[in-house]
Amino acid sequence: MTRTYSALSLLREGFNAQQGWQPAWRDAEPKSHYDAIVIGGGGHGLATAYYLAKNHGITNVALIERGWIGGGNTGRNTTIIRSNYFFPETANFFEFSVKLYEGLSKALNYNIMFSQRGMWTLAHDRHGLEMLRRSANAMLLNGIDAELHDGAMVRKLIPGLNENPRFPILGGLNQPRGGSARHDAVAWGYARAASALGVDIIQNCEVHDFIVENGHVRGVVTSHGAIRSDTVGMAVAGHSSVVAAKAGVRLPIQSFALQAFVSEPVKPCLDTVVLSPATGTYLSQSDKGELVLGAGLDLYLSYAQRGNIPWMERAAAGVVELFPAFSRLRFLRQWAGICDVVHDSTPIISKTDLGGFYVNCGWGTGGFKAIPAGGWCLAHAMATGEAHPLARGFGLDRFRTGALIDEASASGIAH
Ligand SMILES: Cc1cc2nc3c(=O)[nH]c(=O)nc-3n(C[C@H](O)[C@H](O)[C@H](O)COP(=O)(O)OP(=O)(O)OC[C@H]3O[C@@H](n4cnc5c(N)ncnc54)[C@H](O)[C@@H]3O)c2cc1C
Repeated sequence: MTRTYSALSLLREGFNAQQGWQPAWRDAEPKSHYDAIVIGGGGHGLATAYYLAKNHGITNVALIERGWIGGGNTGRNTTIIRSNYFFPETANFFEFSVKLYEGLSKALNYNIMFSQRGMWTLAHDRHGLEMLRRSANAMLLNGIDAELHDGAMVRKLIPGLNENPRFPILGGLNQPRGGSARHDAVAWGYARAASALGVDIIQNCEVHDFIVENGHVRGVVTSHGAIRSDTVGMAVAGHSSVVAAKAGVRLPIQSFALQAFVSEPVKPCLDTVVLSPATGTYLSQSDKGELVLGAGLDLYLSYAQRGNIPWMERAAAGVVELFPAFSRLRFLRQWAGICDVVHDSTPIISKTDLGGFYVNCGWGTGGFKAIPAGGWCLAHAMATGEAHPLARGFGLDRFRTGALIDEASASGIAH
């Protein structure tokens, strides 16, 4: 039985030389057959496995991860959580995710360190300001918290912004309930809770192929041998089109590297998340004190999980333009993850033409914030065969019917 984490258990272990802790989840060997298989041990896959067990009582589940859980984009992202979307379909979905995040530490009995410190988008010209007004109105109409402030108020609320910037700061849109969480903790929390409900977490096991009979999936072929199941879900961001192709399913996805950087740690100096579209940069400060910064996608397709100097220079230039005081900070680390991008910038949570095979993908640069809702909705689809009401617009059929949800042009998000 999984031990409950509490102040009392911490205290007890303090007196016990920390000898009583158990591994947070069972590292399982695969069985030959499961009721459901989830491919991909990132946040979405782990959340799917957890909600299959928790919401639908399906506990005979294998979660198959080719490396270590959280080692993909979930452990590489800049952890911004927000729901500032334009269309009702996306706004409702991402808002549901933020609400699940708000209760997640308690639900999982695992501190995911969700800090609702606000998330600002700055406007540096009249057109940018007009976009922010439009976004703020859409958010409020969708029942999402939004505050629009002029430049003077933005400076008051975010100390340290450049007093004499090349790109003037005319205003800012804040989502006060936005913020960030600890990415590893989200993966580990879901893994621990799923494992406690009976899910087998199988690491270092790569899916090489699918077992298909008469148009229906019957299992997967892995580096540990064949594992059979009539229901298979896939959440392998960055490699979605490659893995789905093995099942004969073609996805409308392109893959790009997205880079991020952290500075050396400093004392607390930035208590919110700031995104500046004009400088192409966004940043926040981690609980360890590092500035966490990111920029846009690389401009060419790639599966190489590494960064490059031009983007590093660009991100640094943007940060220094916004906060000149940070110009003396040194970079500590830099890395990249592979994002799978759909041309309408809206995710795919869908059944496929292959019976029993369901996909969760197309998160572009913004799927960390969607982990709870993405897992919830993929689990629903796998358990019932039907799209969850929140994900009805996210089906693959939209690429045939043309009913796209074009958030790229609506809310101006980059992916
Ligand atoms: C630098 C960067 C910054 C980002 N910043 C943000 C942000 O601030 N906010 C936000 O919301 N989102 C952000 N994102 C996006 C976010 O990280 C992703 O959308 C999200 O983590 C996707 O989660 P996932 O579980 O679908 O994928 P992943 O975490 O990538 O997990 C997929 C897993 O599938 C496994 N896998 C792949 N192929 C196979 C196979 N054949 N067999 C078995 N397993 C396989 C991989 O090893 C991997 O562990 C960022 C991404 C990057 C790269």
